[in-house]
Amino acid sequence: MTKSVDDLAEGKTSEPVHQEAQTFGDNPLEVRDTDHYTQEYVGGFVDKWDDLIDWKKRYESEGQFFVDQLKARGVESVLDVATGTGFHSVRLLEEGFETVSADGSPQMLAQAFTNGLTYGGHILRVVNADWRWLNRDVHGEYDAIICLGNSFTHLFSERDRRKALAEFYAMLKHDGVLIIDQRNYDSILDNGFSSKHTYYYAGEDVSAEPDHVDEGLARFKYTFPDKSEYYLNMYPLRKNYMRRLLREVGFQRIDTYGDFQETYGDSEPDFFIHVAEKS
Ligand code: SAM
Repeated sequence: MTKSVDDLAEGKTSEPVHQEAQTFGDNPLEVRDTDHYTQEYVGGFVDKWDDLIDWKKRYESEGQFFVDQLKARGVESVLDVATGTGFHSVRLLEEGFETVSADGSPQMLAQAFTNGLTYGGHILRVVNADWRWLNRDVHGEYDAIICLGNSFTHLFSERDRRKALAEFYAMLKHDGVLIIDQRNYDSILDNGFSSKHTYYYAGEDVSAEPDHVDEGLARFKYTFPDKSEYYLNMYPLRKNYMRRLLREVGFQRIDTYGDFQETYGDSEPDFFIHVAEKS
């Protein structure tokens, strides 16, 4: 059965993909490792991800922002490098973009594929690829690359961040655009956590809160209505550091939006969105 986006709130998706627990070992605060994401997006957490970020609410809160950014630049082909469970890939397919959906987690991709079929009967072109070796596994050049949903935060070393950005840069056409977002970690590090939960983490009964934050680790706890708890260990990217990396890898123009707005106070937005142009 296929559903439209209007049905997204009700029928949260499909069969579980795998049953497997997250593993953080004896000292979770020491888990500061780029490769660890494949052990975080597993089993029950993958099944619940779409509860965490309610698709319908997310659709409403994002509005046309990404679609407008892409259309304004005449984009036709998009590589979604952090497909997750497929929200943006499905959205872009609905808007008529040629979309390839990559992710390093096979379980997330399996869920995305099912979601594509469920929400609109789309057959997602999925590729299992880690950003650090993207060019090895994904072919072609794209008008745009998107890396959304606070995904880049999973890279724990500067070397990995530079490598991933270099791979993104190389896969863009000469006038291509990279859109990459991140939580406002500056605010969390400097002022404490105060997300209004308006964007992305919009699931009503799901809480997302920091369990531990220091300059090298933001460990978040996600609690679901059935009292199950999952964690993500992430690197707290500062906004200007991210902008510098984008500039240093070669992007010529970088515009940073706060919660989809051009003007904002530095501590207000929950999320920053960087729109980086190659030429
Ligand atoms: N974009 C989706 C969304 O907004 O719902 C998914 C966001 S989820 C926070 C982050 C995704 O990035 C996960 O699906 C994870 O597997 C993927 N990811 C993290 N590090 C990665 C890497 N080094 N290479 C490829 N994918 C990675």
